[in-house]
Amino acid sequence: MIERTARELIRSRYAVALTGAGFSTESGIPDFRGPSGIWSKNPEAERMAYISYEHFLENPKSWWEERLTGPSLLGDLERAMPNPGHYALADLEKIGILKSVITQNIDGLHEKGGTENIVEYHGSILKLRCAVCSARFHRDEFDLAKLMRDNLLPPHCPECGSIMKTDVVLFGEPIPSDVVRKSLEKVQKCDLMLICGTSAVVYPFANLPRMARQRKLESFAMPETGPYSGKGSPDVIIIEINADPTPLTKEGLSDYLIQGKTGEILPKILEEVKKLKK
Ligand code: NAD
Ligand code: ZN
Repeated sequence: MIERTARELIRSRYAVALTGAGFSTESGIPDFRGPSGIWSKNPEAERMAYISYEHFLENPKSWWEERLTGPSLLGDLERAMPNPGHYALADLEKIGILKSVITQNIDGLHEKGGTENIVEYHGSILKLRCAVCSARFHRDEFDLAKLMRDNLLPPHCPECGSIMKTDVVLFGEPIPSDVVRKSLEKVQKCDLMLICGTSAVVYPFANLPRMARQRKLESFAMPETGPYSGKGSPDVIIIEINADPTPLTKEGLSDYLIQGKTGEILPKILEEVKKLKK
């Protein structure tokens, strides 16, 4: 299956990878629904997460104070380092095969691992986003501890003066429109989708493979030139790499599942791609 995936990647014109929390477990960050997942072990944490957005809307000052003083659910994300899976995807991009990563992860590890073209579907823990104009800034541009000491929370947007929240998309919060647009563009263009380390139960992200599978390529306006010119573009190949089968596997939505760890399987695929390309 590793060799088959390598061949399909080499044949593809626009391959994208979709990644989830399972991708970062080998970097020491727990996922939510795996056997040692945060929700699996602590259902109360899950209940609190569901009311977090409401809390932010009702009282952003108290929300920020809680964020800055309470424990972090995912541990110290700033210290986490990419694992071999992150580096393998970055290398597949460098050699021109992988065109983009659309990740649900908020840990910034794809960027740290060297991938350039990334859509952070659920935002990033390392950034703040304006709740009104959506301008994003690195977290370090705000001295949040000082704002708290001076009783000046929540932080305000340098562009429009409105209240800032974390860039992380909270449960119940709409996905920012620029992110929706970019991911739909990629899903419509792709002819190969590698889905790695996600249980594929969080919506609307889980709709992306469904949309790729259902799209009618013929009905898209084809450009006059370029790889998608003319009619008859190939259908999409959907491959999962996951520790366990997912609803996409069970419904037959993915073509096949390579069962195992992304940090072990992706470097093998990369190796095979390099061998075949020689
Ligand atoms: P999930 O926890 O629902 O599912 C993770 C999946 O990955 C499971 O199917 C598990 O069996 C599998 N898995 C675990 N380790 C793996 C490995 N090494 N290799 C391959 N597969 C492995 O995760 P989700 O589908 O991404 O949904 C959780 C949501 O929570 C996401 O939307 C994300 O925003 C957020 N989240 C992010 C992080 C992070 O940024 N690292 C961590 C936890 C949760
Ligand atoms: Zn703003």
